[in-house]
Amino acid sequence: MRYRHRDHLGQPLPLEPGKVVCVGVNYHDHAKEMASTPSTLSQPTLFMKPRTALVNLEQGFPIPEGHGPCHHELELAVLIGSRLNRAKAEQVPSAIVGYGLALDLTLRELQQSLKERGRPWECAKSFDGSCPISGFVRRDELSVEQGVDIALTVNGELRQQTNTLNMVIALAPLIALMSNWFTLEPGDIVLTGTPEGVAALHPGDQLSLQLANQYDFTSQVIAE
Ligand code: ZN
Repeated sequence: MRYRHRDHLGQPLPLEPGKVVCVGVNYHDHAKEMASTPSTLSQPTLFMKPRTALVNLEQGFPIPEGHGPCHHELELAVLIGSRLNRAKAEQVPSAIVGYGLALDLTLRELQQSLKERGRPWECAKSFDGSCPISGFVRRDELSVEQGVDIALTVNGELRQQTNTLNMVIALAPLIALMSNWFTLEPGDIVLTGTPEGVAALHPGDQLSLQLANQYDFTSQVIAE
């Protein structure tokens, strides 16, 4: 089924889905587990997923077969409602429609081998269905500026948990920085990086994603 943006209650949102702009290594603990250098304002690791990466998280999602482990990366997702180009951080909050949770699915072995060979990593991170994403909570219902807890449980086991205040580059400066490279348009999504605890998913896994200890999204990995 064609992906549509919706709110956390499942009601459609009148925004055409667009691209997904992402940042890598934006939490120190994940940088450490990846033996990688954290993003900085002058040297951020930015990448994109096309709109064909987006799938409805709550409906369950398949993972690719035959390309090695497919890791979950739990991330705070931001739905953009108005155009941002070379924006200043102060201009960012009013352009945000709402917040959700996404999985930046990553074919980890393929990513490593592409990195080692100095090649782009799109096949490892931007394939069809590589961004299962929840419904969105409206901006005024969630005080993300104060920091919100996000967590991922797989088969009852807590895998990833952090507070968004632990981001290396904070939300508004991050989105402003992204808009210097990639104009953000209404319906685009921003992913803000993952904390430690990334691990492989398997068909049949039952997932629970929590946003701000208040919004729960359940999902599962379905056989392709
Ligand atoms: Zn990620």
